[in-house]
Amino acid sequence: MNRASISIALALAMTVPGFGEGRNEVSFPRVAADSSSYANVSAFITRHLILDLTVDFDRRILAGSVELHFSRRDMTATELVLDTRDLAIEKAEATAGTNAWVKTAFNLDRATPIFGSALRIVMPPDTDRVRVTYATSPNARALQWLAPTQTAGKRHPFLFTQAWAIQARSFIPSQDLPSVRMTYDATVRTPRELVALMAAEMHPSAAGSGVFRFHMPQAIPSYLIALAIGDLTFKSLGPRSGVWAEPSVLEAAAREFADTEQMMASTESIYGPYRWGRYDLLVMPPSFPFGGMENPRLTFASPTIIAGDKSLVSLVAHELAHSWSGNLVNNATWPDFWLNEGFTTYIERRVVEQIYGRARADMERMIGVQRLKDSRPTLAIPRDKTLRPDFTGRDPDDAYSEVPYEQGALFLTFLETKFERPAFDRFLRSWFDTHAFRSATTDDFLAFLKTELMDKQPGVVTDAQLQEWLHSEGIPAFAALPQSDAFAKVEQARDAWLAGGPMGALAFASKAWSVQEWIHFVETLPRTLMLAKMSELDDQFGFTKSPNAAIAQVWFRLAIATSYKPAYATLENYLARIGRRRLIMPLYRDLASTPEGKVQAKEILAKTREGYHPIVQTAIELLLR
Ligand SMILES: [Zn+2]
Repeated sequence: MNRASISIALALAMTVPGFGEGRNEVSFPRVAADSSSYANVSAFITRHLILDLTVDFDRRILAGSVELHFSRRDMTATELVLDTRDLAIEKAEATAGTNAWVKTAFNLDRATPIFGSALRIVMPPDTDRVRVTYATSPNARALQWLAPTQTAGKRHPFLFTQAWAIQARSFIPSQDLPSVRMTYDATVRTPRELVALMAAEMHPSAAGSGVFRFHMPQAIPSYLIALAIGDLTFKSLGPRSGVWAEPSVLEAAAREFADTEQMMASTESIYGPYRWGRYDLLVMPPSFPFGGMENPRLTFASPTIIAGDKSLVSLVAHELAHSWSGNLVNNATWPDFWLNEGFTTYIERRVVEQIYGRARADMERMIGVQRLKDSRPTLAIPRDKTLRPDFTGRDPDDAYSEVPYEQGALFLTFLETKFERPAFDRFLRSWFDTHAFRSATTDDFLAFLKTELMDKQPGVVTDAQLQEWLHSEGIPAFAALPQSDAFAKVEQARDAWLAGGPMGALAFASKAWSVQEWIHFVETLPRTLMLAKMSELDDQFGFTKSPNAAIAQVWFRLAIATSYKPAYATLENYLARIGRRRLIMPLYRDLASTPEGKVQAKEILAKTREGYHPIVQTAIELLLR
């Protein structure tokens, strides 16, 4: 990208003085201009929300009210503008402080497909609170309603929200942009046999009462508000951590996540205290669109990471790391997304290294680089290949890719190598301490890097190198790339077999391979492999039947490339069972790379679509258009 747009973003950034009074001790120095929101943050800024929602599984709606408490930045403002999407607004009321509520006029603008409708509420002079009574639509983008058959237990329905990036507005009229952080209280009313959880403190409630109360004392952006309702039970993992899951999944989940407390201690030892009280995991139904979502205090995790051998728990390290990068210090605008994901991917591997050893961390780093190289060419818009995409007029979700994760992590690894680990660790810890509970821009990061590291160690890293990291559509030539001895051995065994060596030798060499080694082996096999060779591998190692969701995925990608039909029925089953985008999108993309494959992908989607989250439905439809 060109640098002009950074300076435009900076010029648009606004300063909010006088913040930090009242019940919320956190101060907000700035709200960044944001093209993904209608909110008039120059006049009002949300400080606190009070939600009261009743869930109706039959009609697939949430109905109730939200109270929003504001700081007024403009005492003369007479209109409040909120983000909404597909909401039925019944009434709006306004008040000041503890005065009685008074009905006030409102208007819902015509909806646009990406950003929804601006809700304009008349604000009488001095008012600083509104209450909106509303109901969601059965098609709300943030909500996924699952029938009992789509759950593990098959007896009760399930509802969950996924607000990232700009979908909170489809279940809460709100200032739905990442640079506004707020605290909240919530009351959720459910059928008596179900349990409601939110990513917040949970107040004890009478079992079977159907009324659940929550309090979120730390200020968070709207995209981190999260709710799940289902047949859920809890098991403790340690003094500050535990796991929630459907009863039939609970024991396996608790075994898989047994290292959570250790991961917390490991992350704290490098980056400072965990500041959110508890850290719990909630195992979602298989249609959950992400591997995990870092909802504060309560990570939502895909069951696809439960492999029985802790081989995929780097995802827990990742979501936990977001308690620092993303939740404690979050991207001020969506083009700054790499500040959330690049940092988190980097920290995730540092924690994996501490707990599972350098060899495994390096393998995961190399798999990351490989994915970055594979996925970049699939991005149609050149700036999406850089750390500084342009989201003007777009849903940030449309540009979702490996780039902010892996290029961002490589950028930080480069800095670590240049300034050396002890100094870089102190620097990152100080970044979190200095910016805690605030949002930050890429320019904030560069300024901090300059004063805290570059000025103190001049000549180690140049401005030109920083700019190349941010704007390059590829990995800079001066990057510090990971190396792995284990992978070198995998490649030797692979090449010997490809050159006609006996299967027995490959079977012997691979006896003790880890999941990461298997992934590397399959991912680096030639896409032109003969069908006889595919059969030979499948007979020996049973890839098509692999219960490991990550190994199965790379095998299916190879099966599509080589038209290895014996895997197709299982592939179709996989696509029907799993809704995790990072696993299934590449499979749909691979299928769609040939005309007949595209027809087949559309046929599969017709059968699987209902089981996917709305954002995944849209993403795959776009891909197959
Ligand atoms: Zn993440």
